[in-house]
Amino acid sequence: MKYRDLHIQTQRESPNNARTEGFSFLVRAGYLTRENVPTQLGEYTLNHLRNLSKDESFPFHLSIPILGNNNETFFPIASGSIEVAHCPSCKYTERLELARFAKTPLPKESELPLEKVLTPDCHTIEALANFLDVPKEKTAKALMYTRVADGKFIFIVVRGDMQLSEAKLKQHVGELRIATAEEIEKSGAAAGYASAIGLKDALIVVDDLIPQSANLVAGANETGYHLKNTNYERDYAAEIVADLVQAKAGDVCKNCGSPLAVFSTIILTTRKEYIFENLLLALAETHRDPKGLTFPHPTAPFDVYLMHLPFKELDTRAKAEELYTSFQSAGITVLFDDRDERAGVKFNDADLIGCPIRVTVGEKALKEGMVELKPRTEKENQLTSFNEIVEKIKSLLK
Ligand SMILES: [Zn+2]
Repeated sequence: MKYRDLHIQTQRESPNNARTEGFSFLVRAGYLTRENVPTQLGEYTLNHLRNLSKDESFPFHLSIPILGNNNETFFPIASGSIEVAHCPSCKYTERLELARFAKTPLPKESELPLEKVLTPDCHTIEALANFLDVPKEKTAKALMYTRVADGKFIFIVVRGDMQLSEAKLKQHVGELRIATAEEIEKSGAAAGYASAIGLKDALIVVDDLIPQSANLVAGANETGYHLKNTNYERDYAAEIVADLVQAKAGDVCKNCGSPLAVFSTIILTTRKEYIFENLLLALAETHRDPKGLTFPHPTAPFDVYLMHLPFKELDTRAKAEELYTSFQSAGITVLFDDRDERAGVKFNDADLIGCPIRVTVGEKALKEGMVELKPRTEKENQLTSFNEIVEKIKSLLK
């Protein structure tokens, strides 16, 4: 491809909406607009990645840090909107809302008799725990939903120190909405002071830690009152006992016992497809230096950035055209900067765009039958014979 055919527009300044360095360089190098829309060069690169992905070894070419499981893979990035739990030891990876972890039950104790206590203005677990001077893990948190499909009232109990994962809950009961005040009242529960004890027509669902937690404080289903020493089985039962709570950083990996880490990520692949726009961003985040992008072969849109320098006697442009043709015949993909620009402008653009190899045709070297070859990630130019440049590049790209 020729530079002008792709209408490449590079930029000196980072866009002011850039949230990451990789995005900033993709805009500056002319792959994306500031509005995150692929340009002609961007589309060309996405197509290139699409073609590469038909090869089964594609994921191994990417050279980017990937977190994943059999269904999805993710790239960690501060601006990412998907939170993922990851075990650094055994590599267990799951979306945070579905991540499993090892729960630590409280020490066993014998069941004590129920005791109704006055707990004015204790609408939250925090307020309740403070008022009664008990740790939050000795309380039961109640959540109330209605199933969309059949309007069934669903009462959920998790330990007070844990957060319900709606995603996990939905796997067991289907789509939900928050229960209305009328629905709560009809079940016999009291909002803010609710427990599963004595409810009517409710589907009771409890986290699997609840049956192992004795003597929890729970609502008395009467405004202003709680019950001390509620016990699963003795005082109420559930239709469903399952893992319902959300993991957090530092929770214990269920497979190997190491602490889980939590990352912000973007999704790269699902079971069915690659998300190529995110893949391009992940490549740009991973492969860059202060001057621009440093895409590795074969993910780079072109193997070679070919350019000629201004000339007086020897026609460097014609010689560059010659190389352009021989590269293409040899199966080397090439972006030919055929503009009559100053050398500095072209060198800057070559660094921004980030092809693995730059080839420069300049008058001085050409007089000796040489051209300059520079791998993008190396500092020094190598003078290479004009006649041997194709073979040299082929060996570098192996
Ligand atoms: Zn693990």
